[in-house]
Amino acid sequence: MRSTGLALALLALCACTPRGDDSPATGTEDAAGQGPASAAQVEHAFDAAIDAGDIAAHVQQLSSDAFAGRAPGTPGGEATVDYIKAQFARIGLQPGNGGDWFQAVPMVETTASEATTLRFAVGGGEQVLAFGDDMVVGTRTGQASIAIKDSPLVFVGYGVDAPERQWNDYDGIDVKGKTVVMLVNDPGFHTHDAKLFDGERMTYYGRWTYKFEEAARRGAAAALIVHDTAGASYGWDVVKNSWSGPQYDLPAGDDPEPRLPAQGWLTGEAADALFKAAGQDLAKLRAAAGKRGFKPVPLDASLSLDLRSTTVEKNSRNVIGLLPGSESPDEAIVYMAHWDHLGTHEGEAGDNIYNGAVDNATGVAGILEIAEAFRKAETPPKRSILFLAVTLEESGLLGSKYYVAHPVVPLDKTVAVFNLDALSPTGKARDLTVTGKGSSQLEDLLRTELDRQGRKMVGEGNTAAGYYFRSDHFNFAKAGVPALYIDSGTTLVDGGKAAGEAAAKDYTDNRYHKPGDEYDAATWKLDGIVQDLQTVESIGRTLADGGQWPDWYEGNPFKAARDAMRPPVAAAADAKKIAGN
Ligand SMILES: [Zn+2]
Repeated sequence: MRSTGLALALLALCACTPRGDDSPATGTEDAAGQGPASAAQVEHAFDAAIDAGDIAAHVQQLSSDAFAGRAPGTPGGEATVDYIKAQFARIGLQPGNGGDWFQAVPMVETTASEATTLRFAVGGGEQVLAFGDDMVVGTRTGQASIAIKDSPLVFVGYGVDAPERQWNDYDGIDVKGKTVVMLVNDPGFHTHDAKLFDGERMTYYGRWTYKFEEAARRGAAAALIVHDTAGASYGWDVVKNSWSGPQYDLPAGDDPEPRLPAQGWLTGEAADALFKAAGQDLAKLRAAAGKRGFKPVPLDASLSLDLRSTTVEKNSRNVIGLLPGSESPDEAIVYMAHWDHLGTHEGEAGDNIYNGAVDNATGVAGILEIAEAFRKAETPPKRSILFLAVTLEESGLLGSKYYVAHPVVPLDKTVAVFNLDALSPTGKARDLTVTGKGSSQLEDLLRTELDRQGRKMVGEGNTAAGYYFRSDHFNFAKAGVPALYIDSGTTLVDGGKAAGEAAAKDYTDNRYHKPGDEYDAATWKLDGIVQDLQTVESIGRTLADGGQWPDWYEGNPFKAARDAMRPPVAAAADAKKIAGN
């Protein structure tokens, strides 16, 4: 994930050079009968400490052409989980899932028929919206056929029920069996009111995923989000492309959240016309939805839909390593990174292997290095440390979602999670980025550590895009577990902010989710990643030995879930403990 704030310098010519012969991997040429699984071995003398040479060895291996872009369900994906398992074993971790290194993650691939239409009976007439041009729609139920007939429409503003903000767009209405229509983002964004929600910074309630989940909890038959480019932070083409073709999710039975029979988006134009035919003015309703006290508005319209989809069931695997604690082994701190990437795109001309060196061989190398440092430290940590390499991040954060629904350490015994996703090999920075800054007391621990180093903590550059809700730690956050998502800094020691921004732009333009995301020994500077890994290891050590339970900051939407599993009284005592740390 993550398309901003990342960096790679001076790599203009490196794309497309097939690699493999020059990698330290064994078995790429002599692998007769063994396949890429032999890539699980790597010739390298690993250091006990977090070390640039070790990181390079891991990244070079994981992003080599032998791993073919690490797509789940391919030989390259299997080689990847074998490599991680072999490294966990070499380091001296224990299998983390009972006696098993792996956790099977089931998934359903659903492709909606693009011949589907939305048919609205409205104002005595009918409006028919076409898939792609006017709307997109799909189901995550795994059912091949969904029929909805004459479901009454209700405009529910932003579709938000936020008790900690005393805001409920569903106030006084039962939407069971109905079709809810709502706006993207949250009231603070469109009203530009800094005091409403978080102003232009996207809150959890602004994310479309939240809106569908809330509508499902309320038993709606369907939910439709009205697109606008500013509110979504991307244009209709992005919605259209990402909702066309196969969609991935856990099987409904493996997800604690209820599912909507049908969910989708309307273009702004289609929604305007629909509301007009129903005798309403969408612009006026938008304004009303941005004011406290908004009440849902039933529309003189109903939806009929016959949705046909094809479904395919598949499996992938998380890899889990455990370092048991010496005093409180039942309590754990989690280090996580997704191992999957985009695979090989057959049929694309030129280099068609999406090696994913930055995204996310760096993060996997990071948790391996932190694991090794903990395992080989003189004194073992008092609490357990769990190392979690998750699958299917690029397909909708599914590996982490499955783990959170089936945790190997109960969530109320899980102290915190640290997520590593796409670290920048651009050298040391004067700062460190916390995506979603202002969330939990984990940031207090981090600040103490950064103060020691004379570095600053900064938030992500674009706070309107909701990046905190778009990588794996978010599944833990939603379930209540305090989650810290750190990214490389943006003000480089060598070249300052300008160099950091140029490198980030280079990565986004030339490498992010492209075949050019490759390891390059000549230009990669790993000292910054070493420093950031040492930082996040150090906070984990403090938590492992200190016994505190960091909490979400007051007003955070995930605090209620944590309070429900861990009594707030204990949390208050811990806050003091952390403050005195
Ligand atoms: Zn990623």
